[in-house]
Amino acid sequence: MAEPPPDKPHVLVSDFDGTMTRYDFYRLVIATLLPPNTPDYWSEYCAGRLTHFETLRRYFAAIRATEAEVLAVVDRLELDPQLPAAVQALRAAGWEVVVTSAGCSWYIERVLRAAGVSIEVHANPGRFVEGQGLLLEWPTDSPYFSPQLGIDKAAVVRRYLAEGRTVAFAGDGYPDIDAARLVPASGRFARDHLAEALTRAQLPFTPFRVWSDIARVLLQSPL
Ligand SMILES: [Mg+2]
Repeated sequence: MAEPPPDKPHVLVSDFDGTMTRYDFYRLVIATLLPPNTPDYWSEYCAGRLTHFETLRRYFAAIRATEAEVLAVVDRLELDPQLPAAVQALRAAGWEVVVTSAGCSWYIERVLRAAGVSIEVHANPGRFVEGQGLLLEWPTDSPYFSPQLGIDKAAVVRRYLAEGRTVAFAGDGYPDIDAARLVPASGRFARDHLAEALTRAQLPFTPFRVWSDIARVLLQSPL
């Protein structure tokens, strides 16, 4: 049964790429938008020679497509079509949704706006310049600044926990694990690489297929 909304909303902190959407923007970029001679920055990242931020910055700056071509890729991210309704249902039940992403607000805000969704987004700023690609910028004004990821997702979770709020977290990637560790097991949602990492760390979580599954669980069994 639905409970009355709390005074201070509960917070679902969520990753964007691969969590709210089916596909990751950077993966589509690598697969479709880069010149064939682009270095394998991902291997450099995996070997610990590049930060996550620097890896994305280099890939995005290697884009030599037109803005229209890049926007066509943004259109292929496949935001969960049930997400707008799920955000509304969560809001009505006292849940605020906050996006934390190591990606770029240039495409995240576009995708959310196109779906008519207005939620807080913490991501790296950026702008598209034809011939120079998508220029990823440091979120130097953000209280959650991280030199590795740009945005420190765990810091966002910590802030709401410090306010005494009920916090849930959803993600799909390795960079999500620090944030996922901080929330109670019943509010920990994962798939793909994050699910693997949590399983290895023996931390319980609820798996999800699409983002709106998470809303369904939170609405059915309040934390
Ligand atoms: Mg992700």
